[in-house]
Amino acid sequence: MEKIAIYPGSFDPITNGHIDIAERGLKLFDKIIVAILNNPVKEFLFTVEERVEMLESSFENYPDIEVETFDGLLVDYAAKRKSTAILRGMRAVSDFEYEFQMAGMNASLNPDVETVFLMADAKLQSIASRLVKEIAFYGGDIRSFVTPPMAEEVRVRVVQQSS
Ligand code: ADP
Repeated sequence: MEKIAIYPGSFDPITNGHIDIAERGLKLFDKIIVAILNNPVKEFLFTVEERVEMLESSFENYPDIEVETFDGLLVDYAAKRKSTAILRGMRAVSDFEYEFQMAGMNASLNPDVETVFLMADAKLQSIASRLVKEIAFYGGDIRSFVTPPMAEEVRVRVVQQSS
């Protein structure tokens, strides 16, 4: 049976850390569904549709990675997509508390879906979308945190937003 993992997140924007985790996930799973949480409450730099496009082009050379959006409960979505795992990246201790709670509650909601944590390459572990946006906002160089096309997209959007 095909082993499918859901890799959920905001990806606002997708960073080199996200890509690294997805690549590592491919060593464990046959297929990864990168799933953008459609959260109308939170403010994002890019719309869900823009993020779908950005993720699709970031992963265009990966035939075993699909990009989707979802809303509602993650475990329900995982079951619907016949996925037995949720893939998450673990950065520092700061991620642990939240991830620990989420994994525990998701396991109670659906014990058939396992949460799997992977660590990115040491050089990429400090990257966070929130900080990438903040650095870009203040005119900093984000090219070592995101792909070249994303660096340009973020720069343009941040300039648009602040004008
Ligand atoms: P962010 O916190 O960067 O906004 P997302 O909600 O888009 O993150 O994250 C999706 C998943 O990717 C989460 O499990 C998050 O921990 C993981 N992740 C994000 N950046 C990194 C990184 N630099 N290294 C490892 N995992 C990461």
